[in-house]
Amino acid sequence: MQRATKIVATLGPASTSPEMLEKMIKGGVNVVRVNFSHGSASEHTTTVRLVREIAARLGRDVGVLADLQGPKIRVGKFVDGKVSLATGDKFIFDIECDEGNHERVGLDYKELVNDVHPGDMLLLNDGRMTMKVDAVGRTTISCTVVLGGVLSNRKGINRQGGGLSAPALTAKDMDDIKVAVGFEADFVAVSFPKNSADMYMARELVRAAGGKALMIAKVERYEAIGNLEEILKASDGVMVARGDLAVEVGDAAVPALQKRMIRMARELNKVTITATQMMESMIESPVPTRAEVSDVANAVLDGTDAVMLSAETAAGKYPLETVQMMANVCVEAEKSQAVTLDADFLNRTFTRIDQSIAMSALFVAHHLGVKAIASLTQSGSTALWMSRLNSGVPIYALTPEEGSRRRMCLYRDVKPLLIEFEHEDRDALLARAEARLIEAGVVVPGDQIVITIGEPIGKSGGTNTMKIVKIGEHSAR
Ligand code: PGA
Ligand code: MN
Repeated sequence: MQRATKIVATLGPASTSPEMLEKMIKGGVNVVRVNFSHGSASEHTTTVRLVREIAARLGRDVGVLADLQGPKIRVGKFVDGKVSLATGDKFIFDIECDEGNHERVGLDYKELVNDVHPGDMLLLNDGRMTMKVDAVGRTTISCTVVLGGVLSNRKGINRQGGGLSAPALTAKDMDDIKVAVGFEADFVAVSFPKNSADMYMARELVRAAGGKALMIAKVERYEAIGNLEEILKASDGVMVARGDLAVEVGDAAVPALQKRMIRMARELNKVTITATQMMESMIESPVPTRAEVSDVANAVLDGTDAVMLSAETAAGKYPLETVQMMANVCVEAEKSQAVTLDADFLNRTFTRIDQSIAMSALFVAHHLGVKAIASLTQSGSTALWMSRLNSGVPIYALTPEEGSRRRMCLYRDVKPLLIEFEHEDRDALLARAEARLIEAGVVVPGDQIVITIGEPIGKSGGTNTMKIVKIGEHSAR
């Protein structure tokens, strides 16, 4: 059975050799993530070029997600690289400190002194350490360590409950957007957006640079939760960025938020990526924990489009094994997912012609029990609408547009396939579409399928026709 849920793999030292990239793509990676929090612009550009070369050689479509760093607040560096702090110790964040020690350390976000108040809790290193703010000076934040540990160079700081004024796009992000557009990123992920304005601004910058990327909002700030609907409407998709989100809202709140975000996104025709620590132990171990297997499976059952790997593939010891394991877990989880399409339809309204065809095709495909849905599409929006509801029927999106195919790499249930649109009549095109599906090994003569198509052929947003076809009969006529 074909896997419906997609895999996003973060690239890094463990995964950027040509050999490993090829293995990982063959092993099931649908989208690669280049993380602008690490590495240089030219390194990312080189990596993306390599990914595209390998994908082309393998005859596969692989999407590229450019993840902007955003206003992640980090401590400066220490003389010895790190300090060990015990519960009860006093510690100072000092915006004028260049080299840290056991008493104080610098900060890369000078505004933090204006955003925090005595009594606030600061979480460091993804919540592994906690400090309580005692006093705030002009350039200093004096704290008492509540939960001790080792603090090393450039570790992140979050304020519990959010409330930091940093804008979502830094000067570096604006430069990185140009780099991402330069290598034709298919998705741009915006880190720490607070509201829809942050997403509109990022989209504007991408479009102004000439990029067509889908805009992904990483939901990882306390404030973003209250603005979820407007953020979703301003985006093409969301990432449930559980790393920073857990620190800001508290670990225990995250599972319910994941479910809410995925449900809301699907209702609004947006895509979802569930991210962070999905197979964390596989950074060091060749097998995942039972809890990690369940976490991936539960994200699939929540309806996520994609599950993401971070350090597991960027810096782990077993990047390929992690991808393979994740792919297996997805396939098994999908088998157990109930199809409740009729009930799901009850909440749907639509007025567009192309969307109406998409919904009818889905209804028919499910009730007739066809082998597949084939969508002849330009932009991929028909495939997106169909994939927002689980019908249990795979969707093949046939298009000459390479950018559309790469963007559809993230859509659950959708497999993009290359077909050229030539100057020909509808029957000739349909016959070629059937041949393409047979060639791809997804149908055999005699299978029944549902096809959607727009007439005149090749016009974006023009889907207006649905046809039920028995493979082989059409071309034989
Ligand atoms: P990051 O985002 O890996 O860029 O921090 C994901 C998360 O916070 O979960
Ligand atoms: Mn994050």
